[in-house]
This record gives sequence, C-alpha cells and structure tokens, in this order.
Amino acid sequence: MDLSYTPEEEDFRARLREWLAKALPGLPPKPKPEDWPGRRAYDLGWQRMLYDAGYADVHWDASPTVRLIFLEETEKAGAPYVGANFVGLLHAGPTIAAEGSEEQRARWLAPILRGDEVWCQGFSEPGAGSDLAALRTRAWRDGDDYVVSGSKIWTSHAEVADWCELLVRTDPQAPKHRGITWLAMPMNAPGVTVRPLRTLAGSAEFAEVFLDEVRVPVANRVGAENDGWRVTMVTLSFERGTAFVGEVVACRRVLGDLARVAYRNGTWDDPVLRRRLGRLNAEFRALWRLTQWNVSEAEGKGVPGVGGSVFKLRYSHARQELYDAAAEVLGPDALDLDRPWALDRLSSLSYTIAAGTSQIQRNIVAERILGLPKGR
Ligand SMILES: Cc1cc2nc3c(=O)[nH]c(=O)nc-3n(C[C@H](O)[C@H](O)[C@H](O)COP(=O)(O)OP(=O)(O)OC[C@H]3O[C@@H](n4cnc5c(N)ncnc54)[C@H](O)[C@@H]3O)c2cc1C
Repeated sequence: MDLSYTPEEEDFRARLREWLAKALPGLPPKPKPEDWPGRRAYDLGWQRMLYDAGYADVHWDASPTVRLIFLEETEKAGAPYVGANFVGLLHAGPTIAAEGSEEQRARWLAPILRGDEVWCQGFSEPGAGSDLAALRTRAWRDGDDYVVSGSKIWTSHAEVADWCELLVRTDPQAPKHRGITWLAMPMNAPGVTVRPLRTLAGSAEFAEVFLDEVRVPVANRVGAENDGWRVTMVTLSFERGTAFVGEVVACRRVLGDLARVAYRNGTWDDPVLRRRLGRLNAEFRALWRLTQWNVSEAEGKGVPGVGGSVFKLRYSHARQELYDAAAEVLGPDALDLDRPWALDRLSSLSYTIAAGTSQIQRNIVAERILGLPKGR
C-alpha cells in the first residue's frame, strides 16, 4: 500500500484547485430540493463544465488516486455533488466501461460524461432488496427485443432519468442467481410508468417504476443473457467501493463548521460534546485513510474490492452520528428543515439502508473477509 502522492498527482491537484477557484463563482444559484427539473439542469450543467475543462472522465479514465484527489479538492472547494449524474457516473457508466461492447461504450459513455443523459438504477423490487437475486421482473425474447413486465421500487432519480440500468429475470427455471440479465432501458419507452415516492425529508428522491410489456432492444443487453448477476456484482463494487468517497470529505468539512458553531453558541463548553466531536474527527480521518487504502488496493485491479463494504458500513453509521451531534449543537433549530444540516440529518438515516443495508455489509465482511461460515 502506498499512501503518498507523486509530483504529477500533486500537479493535478494544483491545476484543479486553480480551475475550481475560477469556475465556481460562475455557477447559477442552486435549485430548491423539490425542483427536480431544475436540479437535473443544474447537475448536468456542472457536469458539462467539468467536461469542457477536461475533468469529466476523471471517474473512469484517471487512476484511483487521481480520482481521490479530484473528489477531495471538489468537496473542499464546495463544488456541486454529482447529484442526478450519480448512477450514470458512478455505477452504470463504470459498469458499461468494464462490461459493455465497443458499440455500447460509444453510445452511452460520452453522453454521461458530457452531461447530456441521466441514468437511474432499477435493481430493487418490493420482494427483492437485500435478497436482490430474488427479483421477479420478467423479460422474454421477441425478435430483436426483450419484452419486460414487472415493477421496481426505490429507483432514485427515475423521474428525471433518460436511461435505467435494469435487472430482469430471463430464465425463471434457472437457480435464482443464474437467470438474471442486465439491460439498459430507455425511460421514455412505451409501458414505463414512474410514480414518485415522498420521503420523510419531504422530497421525492426516488420512485416506483412500473413496466408493462416494455420493449428493450437485445442490443441494449450488457453482458450475456443470464449473466446479469456477475455484471451486477461489478456495478455494486463500484457503488460500495467508490461512490461515497467524496462524501467523507464533505463530512469532515461539516464537522469543522459544526465545531465553529458550537464555539460560537456556547455548546462547546460541554466536555461531553467536545469529546464526541473529537472522536468523530478521528473517525472521519480514519475513514479517509481507509478510503486511500481501498483505492490503493483497487489500483491495478480496475474494480474496487470487498473493502468497500467495510468502508460503507462504518461510513454510513459515522454520518448518522455526525448529524446527531449537529442536532445537539443546534438544539431546537435542528427541527427546522430550512436550517443547515436539518435535511442532511433526516437523509443520513437512509445511508444504512441504501446500497445494501448494514446487516448485509456485515454478512459480506463476515463471509468474505473474516472467512466465517455463510449465513442462511
Ligand atoms: C435513499 C435510498 C436510495 C435507494 N436507491 C435505489 C436505487 O436507485 N435503485 C435501487 O434499485 N434501489 C435503491 N434503493 C433500495 C436499496 O437498495 C434497498 O432498500 C436495500 O437493498 C434494502 O432492501 P429492502 O429495502 O428491500 O429491505 P429488506 O431486504 O426487506 O430488509 C429489511 C431488513 O432485514 C434485514 N435483512 C435482510 N436480509 C438479511 C440477512 N440475510 N441477514 C441479516 N439481515 C437481513 C435488512 O438489513 C433490513 O434491516 C435505495 C434505498 C434508499 C434508502
């Protein structure tokens, strides 16, 4: 493991920092959380700025270390988060880059990088979350198309997505992990109905997606028919391995701001709170080191390893502890959703569920790292 940066990497950092300092003041005002078309336009606009400046492909083509520097610097500078580009940039895109054909890479990757198209993830179903391989959305061949019927749930950004990375069952007779196929489905295809789901934070971050005999060209299949589970594991390794990396930097920034607020409003005088913030500081520093370690491990392999589960498990809990500490510092203001951090506190609750629950991450750590017997 090598945690130091080369002169070239430090040079990349310096140039990026300079560009961010010039580019960020030119950004339009941030849209309101509920304004999804506005958020789509804002997120795609930022992606386009990155593309024009030559930074858009950093998630895919740069070394993991350069990607880490990119995430660190953009977060530190307060640059926009990937937002609606999350699935395209951080899991569908890398999956297509790793598993797609030449034509598929040519068709889908550039529009993601340019900020032209948004992707969503149609994996979970009402009866298939943790046990994803139990999914029942059916697809059968009809000429050059698959015909897809079923439903998906918790599909983030479905309302504003152009494409969906969709898991379907193509062989109902095969053992459950073997009859699954990974398709790219256009969200404007006839038969796709999106019904937004409102979260406790008041906005519709995700949706139910109903599929009624939707025709998806066979050419949109990534990987072989019935080999979708293997392709899915590639997608999930990106989701758990690298998709949350930038947020650790954001949490460290919030922690610093929180300490300053505590100092100003007097809560800093409480030694228990000070100890809590100090422990969180150590925790996020350790998580950042763990990230560097995971990235260093991934260098050369091309896909993140199982260490992503360790990171995701601990990070999601530390994030909740951070916003609980924020609530203590803010007092009753923490209940006012227009105040900073109040919405983040509510959304932090979802982090131990999204991208695989904590129990599932513990199972993965137990079985694949500690070598304990497989659970039932
Ligand atoms: C904010 C957010 C965004 C999301 N975005 C998307 C998206 O874009 N696309 C998508 O496809 N999905 C998305 N999801 C869904 C997410 O992947 C699932 O919610 C998650 O995998 C858990 O599945 P479930 O909700 O069906 O819970 P269940 O699988 O029903 O789990 C219920 C409880 O049982 C526990 N449990 C289940 N099995 C085991 C086991 N074997 N051992 C121990 N405990 C177990 C779980 O840990 C959990 O506590 C999102 C979820 C959230 C919260």
